[in-house]
Parts: sequence; C-alpha cells; structure tokens
Amino acid sequence: MMEIHSQSIAQLRDGLRRKEFSSEEVTRAFLKRIKSLDHLYNAFITIDEKEALAAAAIADQKIASGRNEVLTGIPIAHKDIFCTQGMKTSCGSKMLANFVPPYNATVISKFNDSGAIILGKTNMDEFAMGGSTETSFYGACFNPWNTKKVPGGSSGGSAAAIAALLAPGATGTDTGGSIRQPSSFCGITGLKPTYGRISRFGMIAFASSLDQGGPMAKTAEDCALLMNVMSGIDPKDSTSANKEKEDFSANLSQKLDGLKIGVTLKDCSANLDRDYQICLERALTQLEKLGAELIEISLPKNSLAVPTYYVIAPAEASSNLSRFDGVRYGYRCDNPENLLDLYTRSRSEGFGDEVKRRILIGTYVLSAGYYDQYYTKAQRIRRLIRNEYLSCLRDVDMIMGPTTAGPAFDIGSKSNDSISMYLEDTYTVGANLAGLPAISIPIGVINECPVGMQLIGRDFDESTLLNVAHQFQVATDWHLQSSVERDYA
Ligand code: GLN
Repeated sequence: MMEIHSQSIAQLRDGLRRKEFSSEEVTRAFLKRIKSLDHLYNAFITIDEKEALAAAAIADQKIASGRNEVLTGIPIAHKDIFCTQGMKTSCGSKMLANFVPPYNATVISKFNDSGAIILGKTNMDEFAMGGSTETSFYGACFNPWNTKKVPGGSSGGSAAAIAALLAPGATGTDTGGSIRQPSSFCGITGLKPTYGRISRFGMIAFASSLDQGGPMAKTAEDCALLMNVMSGIDPKDSTSANKEKEDFSANLSQKLDGLKIGVTLKDCSANLDRDYQICLERALTQLEKLGAELIEISLPKNSLAVPTYYVIAPAEASSNLSRFDGVRYGYRCDNPENLLDLYTRSRSEGFGDEVKRRILIGTYVLSAGYYDQYYTKAQRIRRLIRNEYLSCLRDVDMIMGPTTAGPAFDIGSKSNDSISMYLEDTYTVGANLAGLPAISIPIGVINECPVGMQLIGRDFDESTLLNVAHQFQVATDWHLQSSVERDYA
C-alpha cells in the first residue's frame, strides 16, 4: 500500500471507507511528518495535536457507524487567515499573535461539518500582503523543492505543506494571486474561485472586493472535493453569491472535444523565461491532443492590471486594517501615555514594514486631493479590464497563460525591492480585478523547480476549469512529481 502521507485526498477518503486505516492513523501520520520535517520549511504557525487527535477519534466513530460526510476523518491544513474558534489565528502578524477567535470562519465550520480534521494553521505573508511568505512575523517559509527558494505567497505555508507531504490539502486565499502563484512555485494545484463563490465571513480581510478563499491540493480532483465543502451562499457574507449547490466532482470526466481555449502567450513572450515558454507550449500541445481547439487572443489591458491592483488593494487594506487600534483586540503597546500614543505605538509596533507601506499608499490614494486621480481612475480601469476578459470569454471557454513569470525565486532576492515583487503578480491579478475563477496546475520542472499554467474561466464556471485540469492530469504526470518522493500517483 502507498504510504499514507503520499496519498491524495480522494485516495485517503477511499482508504478510510474501506477501513484500510483509521482517521487517527492518518492524522498521526501527518502530525509525525510535521514534527520531524517542518523545521526545514516553516510551513505551520500553529499545531494542536491533542485537538486534532480528539477530532480524529470522533471521525473514526462516525465512520464505524456509517455516518460519513464528504471529508470525514481527513486532516486539512488552514491558512492562518481563517478564524478558528479557540485556536490562535495570527494572519502572520505580531498584531494578532495573541488572537484566539471566539468563532469559526464559515469555511472552517463547513470543514468541521464535513468531518474534516483541522491539522494546523499555515504560515503566510503578514495579512496576506506579499508574494513570497517572507513578510510573516513567524519567519519566512521555504520551498520544499529547494529551501533556498521562496514557496510563493501569500498562501506559501499551505502550498509548502502540501508539496512536502505534510498535509494532503489546504485552504488558501487569493486577493491577487496568493493561491495560484504559490501553487505554481510548489508544484501543486490551486483554484481561485469566482468572487462570491466562497464565504469571506471570518476570513480576515485584506482587500474585500478582491479576497477569495479557495482550495489547494495535489490534484484538480482533490480541489473539486474541497470546493464541494467550501462553497455556497452564506447569510453572514452579503457578497456571497446565491448559486445552487454544485457537485464539482461530478463533471470531471468530460472529454475536451470542441472546447475553445484562448491563448495569450504572444502577449507574455517578452517577459517569460525561455524554458517556461517551452513548458507552456508543451502543455498547449497536450490540450490540443485532448481535443481542445486553441485560439490566439490578446488581452492588451492586462498591462494595466498591476498598477490598478496596487491602488485598489492598498486602498481597501488601509480601511480594513484601521480596526487594529490596540483597543478592542490584537496587540497593545506597553504603558501608553495617552490615547494617541496608544494608537500610534500599537500600530507601529504591531505591523510589519510591508503592511505599513500598503496602509500609507492606501491612505494616500483615498485622500481628498488624490481620490479621483488614483482611486476613481483605478476603479474605471478595473471595469475595462473585466470587460476585456468578458469579451474574450464570449469567443472562448477559457483563457490559458502563465501563472508566474518563471519558477520560484531566491529567498531575499526581492524582499527589498517592492516593485519587482509587485511585478511578480502580472499574470494573476487580472482574474481578481475581474472577479473570474482561475486555476494553476503543474506543467513542468525547470532546474528542479516546478512551474504551472493558469486557466481563467467564465464567472462561476469552476467546474469546466476543474474538468480541463483533471483531464490534463489524467494524461500527464507533472502533478505527481514531488519534491519529496516521486511515488504519489
Ligand atoms: N502578491 C499580491 C500582493 O502582495 C497578492 C496577495 C494575495 O493574493 N493575498 O498583494
């Protein structure tokens, strides 16, 4: 039998049903790996072994009495941005280092209701601001393929945990690429759903009009299983979409004959690493072999996506983060002299540099004299970007392109150069500005580091994205390549 930690979520589910192993054995297997290996990667911020094993014991009783839910007994790691009742939720920040939420995020409640075990909380860029998981108050996270490289970010801990086989699946959030870019850098599969598909209640806000939670796992098949649990309207989140509950696993075996895929590689070729281009072209050939028709398209407005995003996201962040004032919860400075000193020092000491930079930019673009010049203009361009995507998606079913500019970069190589870090988001932020679903899946390995391709779909058409990704994974084995062992199939 394949080792427990090498198995996908679907395989673990089947094994549990067949009683090949218990949830307690599965949970112990992952906890043991975390204990012995996570000092290499720093993928986790918090682990509660006792709680996890207690939940596994309950899951085993459920399984024994035939009361299985979708994920009963399967341990899942959660980005430390999702509030977990009674368990520290830091958002990667000193500001929330002591924050133990009195409630669960809707996503966490849904996982609990489906019988999943909370394996632990994963490392992330502070308040999800970053693309490398280097801005975490808990120290940088390292890429399991090469620990001199970043795992990507901000959901780098979740991606690294899956790549290092410390967790079979995880949650992430994606405001400008934070599920897809780390998935690409760590050789896993990650889906940013359509804005509104998954509740944001209890997911600590960065930029509310862009933030979206989503699944990260080894395969598209597993992402579909996680989507089945995570998605759905939530009365506690007024921006969650009123869509019929879908079974994302039901639609994975459709053939791709007749599917039209728009290809944007011409737009990107100037910025792309040559080896990465070869991987993308090989993936296109594979999609064609599977029956898809490739149609060249162009998205010229995407060149405005990064500047637009870096006006809107900081503007929303500056407003969202004003709640951290040292009064109600979170970090409070020692011995404040007066109220102003309490506010100033609590925020100066509690936030890291990148968060402060975003708050400053955000306050600036929202200030009376500059609001129209920056914020209003960015909102208008955002609309044009969405319109351009929608007009392309009238002719094609999805758009294929790179997820990133190349494979993972070296730790420290961009952390003092915000602009080059922001430009890492060139291919991912467009889908957030447009609200569209997008998936990244592995398509190759360059100098022993994986790279992914991105597929952007129509509003609420995650199921076609997952189907194409799954068909691609049935035909190829890039997603089976591992930084650890090459034996999970
Ligand atoms: N890298 C982007 C940023 O720094 C995206 C972050 C995210 O998606 N949370 O804002």
